Amino acid sequence: MGIYKSRILGLRAKLKSEALDTILVSSPENRRYLSGFTAIDPQPTESSGFLLITQDQALFATDFRYKIQAEKELPQLEVFIYEKGLVESLETIVKRLNVQRVGFESTHLTYALFEKSREVFAESQLPVELVPTQGIVEDMRIIKDPHEVHAIEMSLELTERVFEEIIPTIKPGMTEKQLSLQIEYLIKTRGAEDVAFPPIVASGPNSSMPHATPTDREIQAYEPIIIDMGAKFEGYCSDMTRTIFVGEPEEKIKEIYRIVRKAQLHAIQNIRAGMKTKMADALARDIITQEGYGDYFGHSLGHGVGLATHEAPRINKSSETTLKENMVVTIEPGIYLPEIGGVRLENMVLIKKDGATVLNKNEHFYDF
Ligand code: ZN
Ligand code: ZN
Repeated sequence: MGIYKSRILGLRAKLKSEALDTILVSSPENRRYLSGFTAIDPQPTESSGFLLITQDQALFATDFRYKIQAEKELPQLEVFIYEKGLVESLETIVKRLNVQRVGFESTHLTYALFEKSREVFAESQLPVELVPTQGIVEDMRIIKDPHEVHAIEMSLELTERVFEEIIPTIKPGMTEKQLSLQIEYLIKTRGAEDVAFPPIVASGPNSSMPHATPTDREIQAYEPIIIDMGAKFEGYCSDMTRTIFVGEPEEKIKEIYRIVRKAQLHAIQNIRAGMKTKMADALARDIITQEGYGDYFGHSLGHGVGLATHEAPRINKSSETTLKENMVVTIEPGIYLPEIGGVRLENMVLIKKDGATVLNKNEHFYDF
């Protein structure tokens, strides 16, 4: 059985247990996971198509711009072309599918679209109930099959190749934006479908902002430069961070680097299936806290990676998910000293029964 067919079967079982007749899938990653449709949404308020799965039907609703691509990529689905927008065709679609309890993705569908849909059903007097759902498809995506793990490995390999290509070219005087653009250019021209996210390059004091946007600031010698980058390969993302230096940094930066690396290694060596995500977070956080920098590690330890760069499970102080075999997560502790600079190191690991396999091959770390 093809992967999409078996995923749709899995979804049907979930719909049954949630007493839903169908689910309107609007999230691009969930859409791709269930169907293989590769188009992205032009913007969050503009969709390239919606999936509607029932127990005996599977329909893909889109507009004329995506007709050829949909028919080519989705031979297993019935393609429905709406003339205006989804809302204007909802009555027709719902009648065709013969459904009443219609689930929608509450973390993705806009409130405006929800309201308009509700109005359509009220006016048409169709006995349709819109039911908010959360995490139905995301929970399926959390465990990776071998094909997905392979795509992630390919994606990461590409990212690391670009990283290794870019490192020798980094010189004081280059701006963060130049470096970020060069990384993006290389990722896209070395075989990736796209970047997983715009590469982060944060130098000097900017490196104390975990998700800094690259600026026109010129990179200088001896300061920390955080590079956080990832590719997209067959839809699958990679996500890795290295903190690099042109020339040896000052002692304070070396100290936080040593602590972050120690925390990262400890987490990598001890994370395993069966562990609660908050316990995994503590593996690294406790070390950073004991060293006196707990207040300077303000984000979570990691997150799942797959069709989205950030997906379930979240690994933070309070997350209660139990780690399972074949989840792919990042381990990315950091310490950020305002005005001075920061260090973050991020690897991706595949969770195994008795531990975790590091997917990264790159070893650009410093022994300070
Ligand atoms: Zn990252
Ligand atoms: Zn990350």
